[in-house]
Amino acid sequence: MSAKESAAGAENALLLKNVVILDYYPVDMEAGPSPQVMRGDLRIRGERIAGRGPDLAPQDGEKVVDMQGVTVLPGNVNAHGHLYATLAGGMPQPRVPLETFTDILTEIWWPLDRALDHEAVYLSALAGAWDAVRCGTTMIFDHHASLAAVGGSLDRIEQALEEIGLRGCLCYETTDRGGKGQRDICLEENERYLQKLADRRPAGVPRFRGLVGAHASFTLEDKTLQLLGDICSRYDTGLHIHLAEGPTDREVSRERGWPDPLERLEANGLLHPGSVFAHGVDLSPLDMQTLEEHGCWLVHCGRSNMNNGVGRAPVDRFPERCALGTDGLDDNLWGELRTTYFRGNEGGRGPMGHQGAERFWLGNYRLARETFGEPFGSLDTGAPADFIVLDTFRKTPLEEDNWLSHLLFCFHPWDIAAVYVSGAPVYRRGDAPPADAAFLQDTAARLWKTMGLVR
Ligand SMILES: [Zn+2]
Repeated sequence: MSAKESAAGAENALLLKNVVILDYYPVDMEAGPSPQVMRGDLRIRGERIAGRGPDLAPQDGEKVVDMQGVTVLPGNVNAHGHLYATLAGGMPQPRVPLETFTDILTEIWWPLDRALDHEAVYLSALAGAWDAVRCGTTMIFDHHASLAAVGGSLDRIEQALEEIGLRGCLCYETTDRGGKGQRDICLEENERYLQKLADRRPAGVPRFRGLVGAHASFTLEDKTLQLLGDICSRYDTGLHIHLAEGPTDREVSRERGWPDPLERLEANGLLHPGSVFAHGVDLSPLDMQTLEEHGCWLVHCGRSNMNNGVGRAPVDRFPERCALGTDGLDDNLWGELRTTYFRGNEGGRGPMGHQGAERFWLGNYRLARETFGEPFGSLDTGAPADFIVLDTFRKTPLEEDNWLSHLLFCFHPWDIAAVYVSGAPVYRRGDAPPADAAFLQDTAARLWKTMGLVR
């Protein structure tokens, strides 16, 4: 699906007859979640839902499709992802043992982000977005790093997402790892992209948003935190950063005279409302309260925490604004949700449970609504037409009181027949991949060689 074809959604006039609609929110932006299941028809005009209900009469110029009782539901939202990590899939393990989280950063992710050139940034994002759309993910809050190819990197990711047809909230992970010169290039890339978005002012539903990106408090000097805060203020935009992913963040903050990383960020004016903090494994109840008071988001990345051995996040204490992210593992949000739920039950039922799973899942749509200013998560009249179409075959009844159990135990990426964004189909089962596999493999092999993982 090219950007041109995707834009053709603006002229869509479509009536989907005989669907089962699951949605999570009313279209009213002030309203809280209220998941519901209904049977009927769904009308699409341009990039929005134009009506729903039983037996809608076809209108002039409308394409009418009998959907034979398939389920449609809002596209999935990934609240914290790393498209730059896609070509690390299947990578050989480094020869040195990875005993700590710092080892994982210094032996895998930092060598990878230094190995990426502009073409690899684009191809990695393209392959990742292709994985995402096949899991029903239509929006990604991406956190990008490519230290040898910073300037313009967010345009490459935007281009890749646009080619697949997805929405993105982009930023560059500012760090002091490369010294002051490279730090300034990181800051410039964030500001350049935010200015580009501000100049664009698109009509209709925005395809892209931006945040001010930073890696983590422990790779940032105080001066850099101040400069990040300045950009947040200038663009009235939140920060997107890893926070307390493990004990390192707190240890380094203490070395610098701060009790913890959150207090350090707060002192530098970085708790801007709408900021996205990822992980929060090592946060106190007081920290959670601070995030709550500032209207900040805390994103749980349960599978990544398990894989990196950084500890178990206190999910029952997360603030009201909580959501789920895959942290670069993939963009399969159903997989993330169910693993988070299972992990919560592992040591005895709770602390996640159905209530927690529902809270986190619906949080992703609230994040999308607040960041994009559009009623994502709704499939009612006026909402953006971003939705997943499942197979005709459904094994068990779907009702209002069991929708979460379907997400936890029943829906799988292989059930997805099509995905729509802005009223246009961006994926249909059987579509050809967006890039030549041999070319992608050559690019991955080149990255791994630069990283010293293969000869
Ligand atoms: Zn991350």
